[in-house]
Amino acid sequence: MDTVIATINPATGETLEAFEPLSSAALEKKVARAHAAFRGFRRTPIAERAQKLRRAAEILEAEKEQLGRLMTLEMGKTIGSAIAEAQKCAVACRYYADNAERLLAPEEVATDAGKSYVAFQPLGPVLAVMPWNFPFWQVFRFAAPALVAGNVGLLKHASNVPRCALAIEDILRRAGFPEGVFQALLVGASAVPRLLADPRIAAATLTGSEGAGRSVGAEAGKHLKKVVLELGGSDPFIVLPSADLNAAVGTAIRARIINNGQSCIAAKRFIVHEAVAPEFEQRFVAAMRRLRVGDPMDPSVDVGPLATPRVAAELEEQVRASVAAGALLLTGGKRLKGPGNYFPPTVLTDVPSPSPAADEELFGPVAAVFRVTDIDEAIHRANATRFGLGASAWTRDAGERERLIEEIEAGQVFINGMVVSDPRLPFGGVKMSGFGRELSSYGLREFVNVKTVWIAKDERPRGVPATE
Ligand code: NAP
Repeated sequence: MDTVIATINPATGETLEAFEPLSSAALEKKVARAHAAFRGFRRTPIAERAQKLRRAAEILEAEKEQLGRLMTLEMGKTIGSAIAEAQKCAVACRYYADNAERLLAPEEVATDAGKSYVAFQPLGPVLAVMPWNFPFWQVFRFAAPALVAGNVGLLKHASNVPRCALAIEDILRRAGFPEGVFQALLVGASAVPRLLADPRIAAATLTGSEGAGRSVGAEAGKHLKKVVLELGGSDPFIVLPSADLNAAVGTAIRARIINNGQSCIAAKRFIVHEAVAPEFEQRFVAAMRRLRVGDPMDPSVDVGPLATPRVAAELEEQVRASVAAGALLLTGGKRLKGPGNYFPPTVLTDVPSPSPAADEELFGPVAAVFRVTDIDEAIHRANATRFGLGASAWTRDAGERERLIEEIEAGQVFINGMVVSDPRLPFGGVKMSGFGRELSSYGLREFVNVKTVWIAKDERPRGVPATE
């Protein structure tokens, strides 16, 4: 059954607004509008589309405080990070506005033809099924490249962030994108198979859980549609003896509690060499205990509530089952009493496998610490997961660095730094973290027809006799 589409404040549990899902007739109208809009939009020059992205960036920047409050109200991220998210969307819009013409320019290839080249043409309406955790960023990192390439977007956002979905639609409309080029569809997950089956929808992208990825991937496959899947992660954070421990501990905290712990690329498994593990654990736990948990609208708060009661309940169950399997709980562990979905920063050590903390994604501020005896065991442990999204590794040894880069199974490896997304670099995963890439030139080219053009040597203008 579908989740209700509603704005429910995660800090209080109060329902602020509920939305009726679109009727079949209203949904049909929007798909038809997208289909019609593509006919004209695909012909607009890239420079014109880029100009609209620049305008979107200006709106995002001018309204970032208000948009930040909207995100915090709907899904509980801390206000500072919400404002920064609006700002980051502006950066992505500008990146594609500045680079799309270059990245989509036809590429000439020398062959035996008179001329041969590769052209990049839009595919059509793309369905984007998006999660609540970065309610603006996830959408913009799809929309900016997809629209600048000439596609049109249909957004099925997570059911708990309908106001964000409508606000994004409004921003892109005000930025000058024509009617029908970007529409939010207030529908539940059950509408997705129907949309994927619709011949007017050319392709799809989903950012979300493994389960949603399986079902969207299967449906898209059934209809032979291109799909990009950005799924979960259980990123390792490896600390070896030569690491700058101060920097590693400070970053470990930020990397675990980012977005109240609800980030696909948050560090989730801390794999620490035994030579530095006692000091790392002691400093890490002390710092986790010092974090301020509370109202996400208060700028001094470090950790706000989890987005929904379900996320909090699932996390609590994962911690309980991990402790039952033998993990040691050093701090936190249970939802806080009172209204709101608050969960304290939590640290588990001696985590056995199998256990949820070792094998599953922990979507909240819960860290699992593993001690290892050498780099071989660290790499083995890092790869002992079905996910492969990001990895952060800390060492000052050049040889170790090369081995980590070479052997870790992940879509991105950050050495002595926290895994973050950047419009200039590709973002995505391997294994159960999905396939396809977002951002950079790789993301831009996911939703284009890579068209080979071959023109014979003796081609002449029409009407000119070959004997002339
Ligand atoms: P989710 O439950 O999978 O929901 C994501 C979106 O998929 C929502 O719009 C949801 O709609 C829809 N959905 C759910 N089940 C579906 C199904 N069977 N068929 C079609 N659509 C379906 O994920 P979430 O809880 O919102 O987000 C957290 C997950 O996203 C985590 O696993 C996280 O790691 C992952 N994530 C990955 C990335 C990445 O880039 N790799 C980035 C951010 C988050 P409803 O809301 O209406 O159910």
